[in-house]
Amino acid sequence: MSPTRSGGRNLPILPLLMIIPSFHPFFVPAIVFVFGAVVGSFLNVCIVRIPKRESVVSPPSHCPRCKTSLRFYDNVPLISYLLLRGRCRFCGGAISARYFFVELMTALLGVALWYRFGLGIAFFIYFAFVASLIVISFVDLDLRIIPDAISLPGIAVGFVASILSSSISAPFSYTPSPMDSFLGILLGGGILFLVAWVYQLLTGKEGMGGGDIKLLAMIGSFLGWASVLLTLFLASLTGSVVGVSFMLAKGVDTKYALPFGPFLCVGAVLDLFFGEELVSFLLSPY
Ligand SMILES: [Zn+2]
Repeated sequence: MSPTRSGGRNLPILPLLMIIPSFHPFFVPAIVFVFGAVVGSFLNVCIVRIPKRESVVSPPSHCPRCKTSLRFYDNVPLISYLLLRGRCRFCGGAISARYFFVELMTALLGVALWYRFGLGIAFFIYFAFVASLIVISFVDLDLRIIPDAISLPGIAVGFVASILSSSISAPFSYTPSPMDSFLGILLGGGILFLVAWVYQLLTGKEGMGGGDIKLLAMIGSFLGWASVLLTLFLASLTGSVVGVSFMLAKGVDTKYALPFGPFLCVGAVLDLFFGEELVSFLLSPY
């Protein structure tokens, strides 16, 4: 055993390790990816706990089956799931692949946001927005509810963010102007409210949930009024495609109506990344 062997030789490498990566093109996206995976790990906690009105910070993460608290090395985003091969270290119970999927999705969307918007204020605003949409989608898929605890503060955050970013980074801002955001809230909340009201008037039944109304108002708040229309269009399109394939795969039983929230979220993310291109494509023949 020679204690000096590694210590003496590795020391000069350390500053090199700190300098070289900052010039490497993968350095920033790698950091963003790790950041996204860590946030994704937290989103998994939110998806399970927010609908139950439990704290998202305590108690620490535990196995849902045997309730054993996870060691830090069993709670490393993405890696622990792979190392444990999707099973709890203590009771061997299966861990849902969704934990891994949500972490990966958050990480990849983070990198995509960095690629699209750079590492400015727009990145952090939209990262928070996309993270909320992920939580909302999975809660809605699980329980058919969209938690007000996310959508209502989301409306306010989107509006405040539009004020902040227009005063800081204009005219290079990617986020909507405060007026655009305000109109987005009105239009997003208004359209679905009108649809729900007319539907109820005609059929006497409650169709559209109030959660969808608040969600679209939040989307309008972050993306602006024009995006409300495009989001609604994209959500209806993807919803119809998935709904029809669902019906074809499961027979004609339409009792298992899919929640609309996740499609609104998918539509909003598509709008965020491809909105401008889509609008110019759709309007190109005229
Ligand atoms: Zn367990």
